Amino acid sequence: MPRGRHRGVPSPSDPRATLFLGSDINHQGALTTHYIIHRGQHEIGGMCIEVDADDGTRILLDLGMPLTAPGGGDFPWDTPQRPTADLIAEGVLRDIPGVFPHDPTAPAVAAIILTHSHLDHYGLAHHAHPAIPVYGSEGTIAVLEVGRVFFPASALPADLRRLPLDETLRFGGLSVTAIPVDHAAPDSRALLIEADGQRLLYTGDLRAHGRTGFRFANMLSDERLRGVDWLLIEGTTLGSSGETHGLGREADVEEKLVELARSEGAKLAAEGKLVAAEGKLVAVVASGQNVDRLVSCYRAAKRSNRLLVIDPYQAYVLMKLAPLSKNIPQFTWDGVRVLFAPHQVELLKQAGKMDLVIEMRDAGKVSSDELAADPGRYLMCCRGSFGVTKVFDKVGPEKVDLVWSMWSGYWSRERCATRTWAKRHGLEPHFIHSGGHAWPDDLRRLASAMAAKHTVWVHTDSADPGAPA
Ligand SMILES: [Zn+2]
Repeated sequence: MPRGRHRGVPSPSDPRATLFLGSDINHQGALTTHYIIHRGQHEIGGMCIEVDADDGTRILLDLGMPLTAPGGGDFPWDTPQRPTADLIAEGVLRDIPGVFPHDPTAPAVAAIILTHSHLDHYGLAHHAHPAIPVYGSEGTIAVLEVGRVFFPASALPADLRRLPLDETLRFGGLSVTAIPVDHAAPDSRALLIEADGQRLLYTGDLRAHGRTGFRFANMLSDERLRGVDWLLIEGTTLGSSGETHGLGREADVEEKLVELARSEGAKLAAEGKLVAAEGKLVAVVASGQNVDRLVSCYRAAKRSNRLLVIDPYQAYVLMKLAPLSKNIPQFTWDGVRVLFAPHQVELLKQAGKMDLVIEMRDAGKVSSDELAADPGRYLMCCRGSFGVTKVFDKVGPEKVDLVWSMWSGYWSRERCATRTWAKRHGLEPHFIHSGGHAWPDDLRRLASAMAAKHTVWVHTDSADPGAPA
């Protein structure tokens, strides 16, 4: 690999993306570790960073799906599954040398390391040459593998491997250390890369205000990270979407949900009275992967004397993540019920998991008739799908207190089934959400604590992310 040469050019289809050669001259006057941001510096999504060592070892950090199509809208949902050559031709996938099967020099990359299980960080990794191992944390792999059951048409990387927590992985002249971070995807990691006596820290996505916010504090005091040569830090909230990420902390979400759930019929139950039939179903539309949010729902349900209702997909995600923490609610717990969604049950059956379906049924199946009979008894954490609106219809729109618990931008999307349903019935949702990305003050606190020789903002649409507040 020739050193010190720019490789590739920005794709004309996406002028905002920039390739960046972060090489530097070390004290001996030799060129040292390179990094190249293939995508995801001046946009939110499509993350892919390459780091190369002097000995020619190359690794990729994330290989994600861009989130915004060239025209400004969303990509069709099945875009990541389209042929590699088409995605390269359209500029959705950058043709990074030695990475994709059509390139005779592939596999020329030692590994792809994923920071977390969000589509904009992992979603195109399965296009890489199958001999390139793809590493992710235990939680990242668990979420990806849930996809095998519930999204069987979606390909996964052929060689998925676990990224160890307490040991450093070595690839030729490069080493990779995973640093646990707090984010809306479970078990997310920042990555510390060391090569040729230099250190590069890529934050991935992170925040200080989730249920594992202590991890952010741990980073601030982690001596291994202080004074790194390059800090590649996410800056999502510094850009135009900064105002749309909701409440300050995940704990605020729980409080708001409790307020809402108690203000309905369950208030009576909390006071030891009979559950009021006029109580409303609190329906929280959230991402099934957002475990913090599910914990908030579980706690809010408990505190308002309601039962938490989840779907089989959510129940399966939680079961797969159970090894990570004993605080992750399970369908076997008291106070948790499973509402069977027919197509999800069918997918579990097709995956040979009929035993699990039976287990879910026995542990706490609840029917939509039961929800309709006593909606004030339940807090449901659900998906924003058309099928869920059928459940709302059965309960009765006037008996549904709708909570949109995702990024507000998703609510405005053209194909939002929940919004279409709410509009039809003249209902306004409560927006109760707290985003997965650190607030500007926290980002600046982190950048200042790391005191990197070079700080590079990525994953942001801010024109000047480094500007002081
Ligand atoms: Zn993310």
